Amino acid sequence: DLPDRTEEATEFYAKYTAKEILGKGASSVVRLCVEKSTGREFAVKVIDVGGDHSGPEESKEAYEAAMKEIQALRALAGQPNIIELHDVFRSPAFIFLVFELCRKGELFDYLNNVVTVSEKRTRIIMGQLLVAVQFIHSRNVIHRDLKPENILLDDQLNIKVTDFGFAAMIPEGLQGDCLFDLCGTPGYLAPEVLKVSMYDGQRPYGKAVDLWACGVIMYTLLAGYPPFWHRKQMVMLRQIMEGKFDFSAPEWNDVTEVSKDLIRKLLTVDPDSRLTADAALQHEFFQIKTHLDLLVT
Ligand code: ADP
Ligand code: MG
Repeated sequence: DLPDRTEEATEFYAKYTAKEILGKGASSVVRLCVEKSTGREFAVKVIDVGGDHSGPEESKEAYEAAMKEIQALRALAGQPNIIELHDVFRSPAFIFLVFELCRKGELFDYLNNVVTVSEKRTRIIMGQLLVAVQFIHSRNVIHRDLKPENILLDDQLNIKVTDFGFAAMIPEGLQGDCLFDLCGTPGYLAPEVLKVSMYDGQRPYGKAVDLWACGVIMYTLLAGYPPFWHRKQMVMLRQIMEGKFDFSAPEWNDVTEVSKDLIRKLLTVDPDSRLTADAALQHEFFQIKTHLDLLVT
């Protein structure tokens, strides 16, 4: 178990040397850091939680969000495709989360460099992603912000799901959908999340939102552009709610029907008809043997 300390930021700087910035978010900076006693490299996410938690609502919220992020990470420890939390330090103004380092950075940058990903590589990435999501859901956590910026790659190009800043923990004994709040990233939002925000008193949403995001990611891997996009955000949000996307661009000519079938079953508007992580992993897309595999075995 990780130590639960409330100490000054100096405690972190006594143990680690902070180096260059690896990434930035709305209220956090992630830096490379070196553990002084071992020379091992890590990534530290420094979250600004403000000073006074009895004071302004925002800083209290930031503090509670960081606590929830830690709680989710602890509940998910040990799964190889989920980022490992190595150490935690808390001071009144900052929370330091020390993570295993992913040298190859974000899947987002990898995608921008290679533009599109082969079906074979997509099978590996999506297989690992869905195994991670299956595990996350089995622990009654919902990630709610799956996207290529929050999927990191290690030296062997294995994926590590990170950023549990929006994660929801489903209360023990509550099986079904129970969430109402609007959070996440516009292009990856599931239709049922948008519907909650548009009409008051709509039905709650749940785990299926992560599978929708997996569908958006899989489409983007194979096409090099996202399934729902319009320069006017309202138009894009309407496309999402109607599940309006297609495979008409020339990029899709050489993509197999099996891949398209899995994408369609993930980008299904009705969350009850959408594949679960378990069902997605049973899809034919993951049963395919390539010619090379057949030659080897
Ligand atoms: P935020 O909640 O602010 O979005 P993230 O946890 O997503 O913070 O981290 C922001 C960025 O920092 C990531 O998108 C990535 O580029 C980089 N980053 C985060 N964790 C690591 C890590 N363990 N190794 C390498 N880079 C990381
Ligand atoms: Mg992030």
